[in-house]
Amino acid sequence: MHAKHFIGNRHVNPHGGLNIAVIDPSDGKPYAEIARGNPHDIDLAIQTARAAFEGEWGRMPAAERGRLLHRLSLAITERVEEFTQIEARDCGKPLKQARADAIAVARYFEFYAGACDKLHGETIPYQAGYTVLTLREPFGVTGHIIPWNYPLQIFGRSIGGSLAAGNACVVKPAEDACLSLLRLAELAAEVGFPVGAINIVTGYGNEAGTALVAHPGIDHVSFTGSPAIGKLVAQVAANNHVPVTLELGGKSPQIVFADADLELALPVLINAIVQNAGQTCSAGSRVLIERSIYERAMDKLADAFERLRVGPAQMDLDCGPLIRQQQQQRVWDFLSDAHADGIAVMAQGTIVPDAPESGFYQAPTLLRDVPFDHRLAQQEVFGPVLAAMPFDDEAQAIKLANGTQFGLVAGVWTENGARQMRMARAVRAGQVFINNYGAGGGIELPFGGVKASGHGREKGFEALYGFATLKTVAIRHG
Ligand code: NAD
Repeated sequence: MHAKHFIGNRHVNPHGGLNIAVIDPSDGKPYAEIARGNPHDIDLAIQTARAAFEGEWGRMPAAERGRLLHRLSLAITERVEEFTQIEARDCGKPLKQARADAIAVARYFEFYAGACDKLHGETIPYQAGYTVLTLREPFGVTGHIIPWNYPLQIFGRSIGGSLAAGNACVVKPAEDACLSLLRLAELAAEVGFPVGAINIVTGYGNEAGTALVAHPGIDHVSFTGSPAIGKLVAQVAANNHVPVTLELGGKSPQIVFADADLELALPVLINAIVQNAGQTCSAGSRVLIERSIYERAMDKLADAFERLRVGPAQMDLDCGPLIRQQQQQRVWDFLSDAHADGIAVMAQGTIVPDAPESGFYQAPTLLRDVPFDHRLAQQEVFGPVLAAMPFDDEAQAIKLANGTQFGLVAGVWTENGARQMRMARAVRAGQVFINNYGAGGGIELPFGGVKASGHGREKGFEALYGFATLKTVAIRHG
């Protein structure tokens, strides 16, 4: 399979004709090629998006835009299995995870379809003789940089929100996983999106990605990826005074108090670190457990970890492979540091014998008594590695929870209502979940971070405020 860019509702060869091999993480073998985008391709995509914004797409009434988004949602729903297969192979996701992502992207477009004609301004009481109103207007052309871990979901929340606000989009997906997005853009053209509303240029971050962010024709950048690249992207965008939404990494804590319902919490704690092989920005990668129940909870966690099975996407087990060999090496490096520093592996899952040796597998690993200031407790591993540590009281739990550079998501497990409220306020994170984690995806729920986890919000209606600019109109009429 040889995939091209998708620009102006057409498949377009890269200028210069270079390609990138696509590797199947389940067996480590190449199975397709994508176009290697460059500044020339980015320029073409941005010009095409600009023409759409100034033409048919930009002039389309909001309700009509909503109908198109809804049509796309329905078309995705009819093809959930097709998207499941593409995403599972491209990302190495177990089928059930890939299917959940395909269903989620349809739901994003459904949500944003209904929101298109509900984004409105206000009138503001002012001095006598004036009428003052605000308009929420699209920026124009928005650039979207997307990582490989949830291509479909992140496309839904980022491009869905931007289109709903009336922008035209240029998307640079990750070089490791972008095939589902090319198919999605093609499907959008099939259901009637005007030429240039959605454009996709594939390629490397330091080539096509940099060119997109630096281009003077971009009016807003939405970046989802690592904190280091996010900082770089914000610096480059600042040269053109372009606003940036940064959705970055995390080291999200799950805080388990002694009065928690452990039976309710355990499967959620496990899923929060095993889902997508731990390659999730909001992975619950630290578990803080009140000391009086620490041993009991750790035994239960260990039991559950030992039952986890890892294998190829098509086997649809608890956990698939990591995305690429470098990611596998990164996880191994973290684990060898843990070993060198005497951190105990309490339990591990099993890589099934049928998993090809050339695939990028890592058994889910539970580490106990991880020192608070250790790399394993501070940095994002981005693999199925859970760092556990005890705490003595609420004050210490808060200190540990807030004691990293990140602040994306937190989970709090307690039956005490007053403590639920105190913790919700005290923990510094973009989302706090009490007696659940992730609320089952939460398309409607604003999402984003504080500190090194980024700024700006996507998902929910809040995203629309981020993808629109506010204009104040003051009319003096006497
Ligand atoms: P990454 O930062 O290496 O890459 C992300 C995207 O940025 C890719 O498309 C890549 O090609 C592009 N890129 C790389 N260098 C670039 C540059 N110089 N200029 C412009 N674009 C560039 O991240 P990754 O390893 O692909 O993804 C993992 C990271 O993403 C983790 O830190 C994870 O927590 C984070 N993430 C965050 C969220 C969120 O919503 N907060 C969601 C998913 C992933």
